[in-house]
Amino acid sequence: MKKDYLKENISSLKGIGDKTQKVFEKCGVSTISDLLFYYPREYEKFDEIIDVADIKTGDIVTLKCAVIGSVVVRHVRNLSILTFEAADKTGRIKVTYFNMPFLRNTFKSGKFYIFRGTARKKGNIIELDQPKIYKEEEYQMLKGSLQPKYPLVKGLTNNAVIKAAKQAMMYTAYLDEYLSKEQLQSLDVMDYSKAVRHIHFPENNDDLMRARKRLAFDEFFEFILRVRLMKSDEDKSVNIYKINDSTVAEDLIHRLPFNLTGKQLDIWDDIKCDLMGEHVMNRLIQGDVGSGKTIVAFLALLMTASNGYQGAIMAPTEVLAKQHYDGFCEMIKEYDLPLRPVLLTGSVTGKAKREAQQLIAEGYYNLIVGTNALIQDKVEYQNLALVITDEQHRFGVRQRERFAGKGQETHVLAMSATPIPRTLAIILYGDLHISILDEMPSGRIPIKNCVVGTEYRPTAYKFIRDEVAKGRQAYVICPMVEEGELDGVENVQDYSEKLRAALPDTINVGMLHGKMKTSEKDEIMQDFADNKIQVLVSTTVIEVGINVPNATVMMIENAERFGLSQLHQLRGRVGRGSHQSYCIFLNTSEKDEAKKRLETMNNSNDGFVIAEEDLKQRGPGDLFGVRQSGEMNFKVADIYTDADYLKKASVFADEILQKDPELNSPDNALIRSFLEDRRSNTVDFNTL
Ligand code: ADP
Ligand code: MG
Repeated sequence: MKKDYLKENISSLKGIGDKTQKVFEKCGVSTISDLLFYYPREYEKFDEIIDVADIKTGDIVTLKCAVIGSVVVRHVRNLSILTFEAADKTGRIKVTYFNMPFLRNTFKSGKFYIFRGTARKKGNIIELDQPKIYKEEEYQMLKGSLQPKYPLVKGLTNNAVIKAAKQAMMYTAYLDEYLSKEQLQSLDVMDYSKAVRHIHFPENNDDLMRARKRLAFDEFFEFILRVRLMKSDEDKSVNIYKINDSTVAEDLIHRLPFNLTGKQLDIWDDIKCDLMGEHVMNRLIQGDVGSGKTIVAFLALLMTASNGYQGAIMAPTEVLAKQHYDGFCEMIKEYDLPLRPVLLTGSVTGKAKREAQQLIAEGYYNLIVGTNALIQDKVEYQNLALVITDEQHRFGVRQRERFAGKGQETHVLAMSATPIPRTLAIILYGDLHISILDEMPSGRIPIKNCVVGTEYRPTAYKFIRDEVAKGRQAYVICPMVEEGELDGVENVQDYSEKLRAALPDTINVGMLHGKMKTSEKDEIMQDFADNKIQVLVSTTVIEVGINVPNATVMMIENAERFGLSQLHQLRGRVGRGSHQSYCIFLNTSEKDEAKKRLETMNNSNDGFVIAEEDLKQRGPGDLFGVRQSGEMNFKVADIYTDADYLKKASVFADEILQKDPELNSPDNALIRSFLEDRRSNTVDFNTL
């Protein structure tokens, strides 16, 4: 019964009227429980007051300065601009406030104030725009504390979320703990409800880390349990679709315009052995972006079909599915292959959809390409022998499970462009055999990289203009969707405007982010693929698998905010064609570590090397400075930074399952219900 409290609408909290409730809803928060799981994305640390001379631009700084000279208010169009100079013993700054003319009376020349804001350099002058002002005592109180900063949308302020979250904290008492006291102790993790409280309002850094680790542990544990439970079913599976060697597939290999790489051939051998072997195939191909996984998948589908069975491939988005479908159709035509392909996605509707579904059910189509439309209840297959998930890390274990469940003892091939170090891959994909595709097709021109500061921007824009003039295209990545989410961080909306102004009108600048509708996103991606858009400003939603060989420039704003592996994935969007490609990492931080980290990208184009470096360089100290790599759809957990807890969760899951393989024992009832509860709590990986 007690769960009902958690399901209460947030409007029962003080200060949440209709309007606020609606904005919260936009962020996916309607119940108390949603609010409890609406974690901060960062924390603001109120650190020591520093000297002007020690300012590193781009940082949020707190200064104690005296106002010097007079306070000036100017009017530009509808804007009032208030400025003055201020200084401490070590240097001067310029302070600006917009549309706050009333502050004129607040500041007295010669008096000291505490200012806190992002320091920027304009020419030789250090500027602070809209800094917050504190009284001495007030700041002393805040010093050392961590204030949560939540993901926001227009109309929702951080303070509003803090206020609501503070009230919601008492409901954490209703959160169920599935670990016993002994287990909590032996695992050395924080109690669940405490962890939720402290992820919102940590007392100090240490506390925050422990809270985060606990929540990461839960995510890993859930993931690993599901994978292991799936495995225990599949272990027994005997191969009922013996797929014999296919001459059509071997023929195709010889007729392709390129030679398969040695690694592609090795993996093709692995797959053939699986398909012909005693047991059902359960294999993961891990191959860096551009290593040529698709053709291997196609060979497997061809072999399956030529044995009289159906094979299906599922991609995370329509654009990717369509890209595969078009590519396959071309090959089928060119080489006259015995395949009857069909595309099934969310935008196939009405009669076309019914027809497609019927012909799939009757077994007419033997190569089925689509999105998660393929695993809808209504879709039935006749003799589905092989399912392939492309960009497998974008799907949850459950989707994978459902897909395989569409056939009987179906062969499963998963493909991923996320180079996870082997030790971690074995834990995460314990159920899968792993093939690693770590050889690039020959003839690729290596991408040229550069790590630059903000002063390089105009040069970068000119460079983009020149590339577009040559007929090429460019991507620009920003960390945020819209203004106001984080200070000093570029957002897609404003940035596209900025670029439109900076580039000639003949260049079409498009914009892409996760808050757009799927159909809208797909349209933009298609326009980019068709070169109707030349410069695409996007968040990281930009498809991992997208293949636009004509794009040659990847510019990443605030590059220091991304994990190395993620940067590598982004870079993989270019360098796919016959033209020289470039990746510009724009570093807005002056910190030495940031520069050093980004230099790794300069020095290597190898995803596996970078993943290892990521693991090494991202100590547990920099949890929030860098964006989570976002792999595997975890909300809090990061397979690199939390590798220690990943191992812990794996050992614990094994311990539990060894004694109770199906989790049927009453001792494990709480763990069972934890798994069931989490079903409703899935993470949307398209939130950015
Ligand atoms: P990914 O592994 O990232 O999915 P793709 O399968 O999309 O990569 O392949 C990228 C490009 O490389 C495609 O245009 C594909 O035709 C081409 N390709 C694949 N294998 C080879 C090869 N052995 N030699 C040359 N080009 C290849
Ligand atoms: Mg791919």
